Amino acid sequence: MNRFPTHHPCFDPEVRHQFGRIHLPVAPKCNIQCNFCNRKYDCLNESRPGVTSAVLQPEQAILYLEEVLRNDPRITVVGVAGPGDPFANPKETLKTFRLIRERFPRLTICVASNGLNVLPYIQELAELNVTHFTVTMNAIDPEIGAKIYAWVRYAKSIYRGTAGAELLIERQLETVRQLKAHGFRVKVNSILIPGVNENEIERVASRVAELGADYFNCIPVYPTAGTIFEKVIPASDETVNGLRERLKQYLPQMAHCTRCRADAVGLLGEGLSDESAQLLAEYSR
Ligand code: SF4
Ligand code: SF4
Repeated sequence: MNRFPTHHPCFDPEVRHQFGRIHLPVAPKCNIQCNFCNRKYDCLNESRPGVTSAVLQPEQAILYLEEVLRNDPRITVVGVAGPGDPFANPKETLKTFRLIRERFPRLTICVASNGLNVLPYIQELAELNVTHFTVTMNAIDPEIGAKIYAWVRYAKSIYRGTAGAELLIERQLETVRQLKAHGFRVKVNSILIPGVNENEIERVASRVAELGADYFNCIPVYPTAGTIFEKVIPASDETVNGLRERLKQYLPQMAHCTRCRADAVGLLGEGLSDESAQLLAEYSR
């Protein structure tokens, strides 16, 4: 059996108009604070990670998933991508995956994380046949990381500045290495923040390629209100495309990312329809 059937709209761009994904927003807390992120729970007009219109308990998420799958046969992939970090909420995330496996053994499971607290769970994820993993890494140099991350919470302590960034980066790199050792398909996302890490992204791509990552996704920062990067001007398409061209020497590039919300449903580019938002609200009660 092919462990990676080619029906993942994010990892297999050729099928992105054919197959869709659903995100189950079961992970509200985060264990780091990125300086570009402001998590809001009730915003139907914004499409970016960290945004969801509701949070579900694992049991609610399965009932909601059943209903969505009944209505939308294009969905082949179920992901957990927040609105916080899946492994700042490991109990909820793993319970959701266990329930999915019991009820939908053939569904592809995908997860996206900042990589801080994944290592203790990799073996269990592999046993649950979670196959696709995205780690977001924005720096290799802790000095640059310190400009991107306000704090990192690990083992009940808070780390700031270069100490926090160093801890996070070390664990991200080890996570990519171990995910590959366990047979996952691994994509690395990097948020391009002009004036901060534009010269760092190439180092991230080169390092994770050495560790065996499969795919790279360079995403221009989204200037979010209430963050220190709210006034930053995102890199132009020309700059991003030029960078992606250079990065191709290390890894295949994803150029069809649509910055999905933590509760996105449907084909890539489809966020949360009014109908799905209503369903989500119903199942979150
Ligand atoms: Fe926001 Fe994700 Fe960063 Fe957490 S890891 S602060 S949810 S962007
Ligand atoms: Fe997986 Fe990210 Fe695609 Fe969601 S958007 S299905 S988490 S790769």
